[in-house]
This record gives sequence, structure tokens and C-alpha cells, in this order.
Amino acid sequence: MTPSLNDAAVVEISDALAQYDPVMGLEVHVELNTKSKMFCGCPTEFGAPPNSQTCPVCLGLPGALPVVNRRGVESAIKIGLALNCEIAEWCRFARKNYFYPDMPKNFQTSQYDEPIAFNGWTEVVVDGETYRIEIERAHMEEDTGKSTHIGGATGRIHGASHSLVDYNRAGIPLIEIVTKTIEVPGDKAAAVARAYVSMLRDLLFALGVSDVRMDQGSLRCDANVSLKPRGSSTLGTRTETKNVNSFRSVERAVTYEITRQAAVLNSGGKVLQETRHWHEDTGITTSGREKSDADDYRYFPEPDLVPVAPSREWVEELRATLPEAPPVRRARLQKEWGFTDLEMRDVINGNALEPIVATVELGVPAAAAKKWWLGELARAANESGQDLDALGVGPAEVAEVQKLVDEGSLNDKLARQVFEGLLAGEGTPAEIIEKRGLALVSDDSALLDAIDRAIAANPDVVEKVNSGKPAAAGALIGAVMKDMRGQADAAKVRQLLNEKLGI
Ligand SMILES: [Zn+2]
Repeated sequence: MTPSLNDAAVVEISDALAQYDPVMGLEVHVELNTKSKMFCGCPTEFGAPPNSQTCPVCLGLPGALPVVNRRGVESAIKIGLALNCEIAEWCRFARKNYFYPDMPKNFQTSQYDEPIAFNGWTEVVVDGETYRIEIERAHMEEDTGKSTHIGGATGRIHGASHSLVDYNRAGIPLIEIVTKTIEVPGDKAAAVARAYVSMLRDLLFALGVSDVRMDQGSLRCDANVSLKPRGSSTLGTRTETKNVNSFRSVERAVTYEITRQAAVLNSGGKVLQETRHWHEDTGITTSGREKSDADDYRYFPEPDLVPVAPSREWVEELRATLPEAPPVRRARLQKEWGFTDLEMRDVINGNALEPIVATVELGVPAAAAKKWWLGELARAANESGQDLDALGVGPAEVAEVQKLVDEGSLNDKLARQVFEGLLAGEGTPAEIIEKRGLALVSDDSALLDAIDRAIAANPDVVEKVNSGKPAAAGALIGAVMKDMRGQADAAKVRQLLNEKLGI
């Protein structure tokens, strides 16, 4: 395929932002964690054998009649309330008609002009600044099935010999949360997009309505991006990058689209209104299908479902169950943990809040939890381009390693090597310590031998200590630690050394 002008080039992000202001709109789909599907009783477990969780309703067989999942509606209302939305007193489902092989009914049951929740707002914090995001709507719909294309090089339909379809996901309840246009300073746009999706993840997790696993597709983001010349009020043509599935990718995809669209405009071209695919490996987007505002989905009210009319009493009952709002919770945790503003900002920016909460709940002091999550683990996540919660090392492992540090079996340096082993999949902390020979030497006689060697090798230092400069003993501790290859508890060495030198 010859790349079109629309795929040809990018400009530097700073150059793009010097000339254009980005405008974004974010659509987030969240799969609810209901036990059954939105309109039938089929189970919703992830990873079941293909087509084992289907029935006449979610397969769209003639004569099958859907019934609304009450828990699905309840979750939708909770999400709406948490996003400060108004909750409709009466709303209907609508059929969105289009043909897609993984949608067995040939229409998606969704909501159109009568969403259950609308006119809300929320806030995100980036670099200490708070940005308000207006929420257009949150509506209920159902997920589609999943196609697997066989024979193509990249698993895409292009070049495939045939495709397989799994309808287990068809009919799983989804809430689509749509923002109004987001206009923030250009150099913050991508970070605000990331912070928004990250904040939504935390919020939805706190609400208990979804398992919000971006890696399993239960939280997915479509990012609409357009550019307008700086100072202009005329909106540019937007593209919609579909199904971006990590926080980091949201930030990268928005940045990429800004630089690509700027290149198109600078070379005299026109940005095409289209959907685009995000490529995690190469960090670019490529053209999907053209999309016009006039796409005719022939929406009409779903005749097989009764309208949803949540009573005000029910809505207020649900409002009373909402967990504390994320900013309030953050302030409370900061106080409980004794973190400075700067430390808390690092935690939020590093998406480490939830891992630290979970680690502290396992009995680890907050400072230690922060040290590991923002140190070794953040570095590993960064290097491998993953989100922290996709590393395969969780709060339980962090708590286990910290327990060994507290017991004196490991020091920080050795603990870091245990994390290295955990990240490399070498087994449990105990197995890694065994395999790599990482345990601290707690045997006093081995330490005393090393101390004797250090004293013998450094008579000048001993001389200084004896002449009334006890601080000089630090050099001896260093020598002992080196002798022990770091596998000694420095505090213990200091204590034994001080006893020996009589200080
Ligand atoms: Zn079903």
C-alpha cells in the first residue's frame, strides 16, 4: 500500500503546538462486571471457550425477546452520578443499525437521543493544575462479539484467509462515556487525556461496577483529535483513534495525531474525517475507515424493551452509596500517608495510587510502598512501555519483599535484585533469593571476620577514629559492605563495628 499524504509524515510536537491548538473529545467504553449480559441471562466470564456463553437473545435469533439487566441500569446510574450527571427520569433504548459480522443482530442495542445520564463534569490534575472536563453523556449499550482473523501477518483482516467469530462478548453491558470538547493548553492536551482515562479507571474501580482491565479490553478509549490554527475559533476536521488500550497509549496516540495532522495541514493537505487504528509497537496511527457526521445508523426506539424510568428514590439511594470522590480521597490518603504535595503528585502522575493503596492495605508502610512502586517497578514499566498494573508484580509481591526487608533478611539493594527476578518471572521472592543467593548474612561471626579484615586493611582510618573522629568509621562500614558483597545489614555492621572500636 502506498502511504497517502495522511500517513506520510509528522512534525515535531513543539512545532505543531506553536502553530495549532488541539481540540479533543474522548469516548470511553467500560464493560460492566454484571454476572449476566445486558439483555439475557448468559454469563459474562472472560476467557471462556468461544461461543459457550450465548443464547437465542444475544445471538439475535428470530422470536427471542430481550429483558433489561437491572444491575446494568444501576451501574449506569452510579457512573452518571459519580460524574455529576443528571439522571434521566425516563429514557429508552434505541437500535443502532449497521452490519458488522461480530454483531449477530445486525443492530446494536444502544441509546441515542435519550441517554440515561447527561450534562456532567469531572476534574483531573496534571502537573499540579486542575482541569475541568465536561461530560456530554453516559449511555447504556451492549458489546459486540470478537473476530479473529487467521492467516494475515498481523492478525488484521488484511491478508487473512478466513475469520473466526466468538459471540461470548456480544451482549455484555457497556457504558459509553462521552466528553464534550476538551480544550486545554496544547502542551497539556495529551497528558490531560491520559489523566482523564486514568481518573475514570480509578473512579469506576472505586464504584465497583467494572474490573476496568485495559489489557483485557474492559476499559477502552477512542480519542477524537482535531487542530485549529492558534487563536482561531474554527474547529478543524477530527479523526477518531479507536480502542486505545493503555494510559500511556492514550497520551502517545493524542501526541501522534497532533504531529501528524500538523504535517498534513502544513503541506497544504486536508485532514480526512476518519477512524484510525493505533499501533502500540510503532507508536503511530493508520487510516481506518472514512467517517462522516451523516453516517446513517437509522436509529429508532427499541420496540422490544420497555423504557427505563428510574424512580428518584432509587437514584437517591444509589447516590448515598457512592464512594468518596477521587479528589477528596486523594487528600485523605495524602494526610494518612504523610506525603508532601510533591510526593503525592509523583504518585498520581505515576499512576501508582491504587497499587500503593493495595500495598498499604497489606501492612506495608506508605513510604516503603511508594519507594518500590515509584522506583524499581515504575522504571520497569517505563522501559517495557507497560502500565504499572500490567507488570505481573502486584501488591502481594511488594508486601512479601518488604516483609523480608523488615525482618532483616534483605536490604534495599538485595530487594531490588529480588524485584528484578520477579519482573523476569523467576518465581516467588523466596525462590529468587534461593536461586540468586541473595539472603543477607546475619551470622555475627562472618560479619566480625569482615570487620577484622577492614580494620586490618585501614589502619589510617582506625587512627582517625581513635584520635576523636568517630565519623571516619563510615569508611570502614563501606569496606565491610564491599567485602560482604552488599549482603549485610548496614545497621548491624555499624553496631558491631562501634562495639569493636569502643565508640
Ligand atoms: Zn445470551
